[in-house]
Amino acid sequence: MKQATQYTEADVKELNDQLRGKSAEEIVRWAGETFGPEIKFANSFGAEDVVLQDVIAKVAPAVRVFTLDTGRLNDETYEVMESVRFKYSDIPIQVMFPEREKVESLVREKGFYSFRDSVDNRRECCAIRKVEPLKRALADARAWMTGLRRDQSVTRTDTEAVEWDEGNGILKLNPLVEWTNDDVWNYIKQHNVPYNRLHDQGYPSIGCAPCTRAIKPGEDIRAGRWWWENPEYKECGLHH
Ligand code: SF4
Repeated sequence: MKQATQYTEADVKELNDQLRGKSAEEIVRWAGETFGPEIKFANSFGAEDVVLQDVIAKVAPAVRVFTLDTGRLNDETYEVMESVRFKYSDIPIQVMFPEREKVESLVREKGFYSFRDSVDNRRECCAIRKVEPLKRALADARAWMTGLRRDQSVTRTDTEAVEWDEGNGILKLNPLVEWTNDDVWNYIKQHNVPYNRLHDQGYPSIGCAPCTRAIKPGEDIRAGRWWWENPEYKECGLHH
């Protein structure tokens, strides 16, 4: 087996072949054994992420966990964070905040809702509140893990279990890539995992409070994120 430091972009295809058909639990266990604390899990406390947190606690507790507090989250998100913190108290959660000076100058120059004015302004806000803190969180990691699923949106149909994150120069693992929405909710119920109560109010995908809303039955599950933009733009820069 390779050392954590030896994995590069050239290994992605082979790793996907090796992990194809494996369960999420097997992929997470492999990640824990291969990378230990050198892999970090980005937990946004959405349904997929609370599942992954539970799997990590059971089979790979050395994996480090972090979250991005953008300063614009819903109360319900802080509540589930706190429930998760208590339930898996052996696993510390590193909370990343945006750089104070950048938020202060953004709000001073453009106000509190600049992200509604244009896609560029929205990306600027996501860059300050999400992408830069993510970069900082990953600066001491060899790989990271996410709860991305292939059928979440038009921007995610090509997602693989293992990808190369060009921006951060490390491997990115998506153990739930093959899961359906039903798989996620069956797991949550069966294992009694704490989840964000907004999911019960029609929010399948939860981000910052001003950029997320409930959807109507039959709408795309990412339709409530940045609903004023076209679907192909709907990524915050964390996932390309
Ligand atoms: S989701 Fe909205 S509030 Fe949150 S960082 Fe992006 S633009 Fe800013």
